[in-house]
Amino acid sequence: MSEATHEIGYAHCFCGRRAVIRTSWTKQNPGRRFQSCLNYERGGCRYFDWEDPPMCPRSRIIIPGLLKKLNALDDANKKLQADIMILKEGNKKLAMVIRLLIVVMIPVFCGSVWWISSTKSSGSRCFEELGMKMIG
Ligand SMILES: [Zn+2]
Repeated sequence: MSEATHEIGYAHCFCGRRAVIRTSWTKQNPGRRFQSCLNYERGGCRYFDWEDPPMCPRSRIIIPGLLKKLNALDDANKKLQADIMILKEGNKKLAMVIRLLIVVMIPVFCGSVWWISSTKSSGSRCFEELGMKMIG
């Protein structure tokens, strides 16, 4: 398992192209860089040369553990990003419902206030006509 880090190498492969520097992620050489053919994984030549010195035994133990933790954190981060997207969509829908409620409730509220005040005044007029006074 490897990944190309950049296309500028120091040597030329057997195809005559500039070699690329890649990083090994094998158990024996985690994080160790090497040069290979640009088209190594797509039928290119088998040119290969280590760029970095051999790994010490401690690095062979530590780096895979760190890589495993990094991958776990990356997976957790992807899941959190997906959860955030779901929450953002939920927030958009909730904001739309709130706006709709405001648009509907303001006229209902104003209409209710108008109805109560008109009923109260007609009620008080009614009491006044009967010679009574409303309290409050
Ligand atoms: Zn080549």
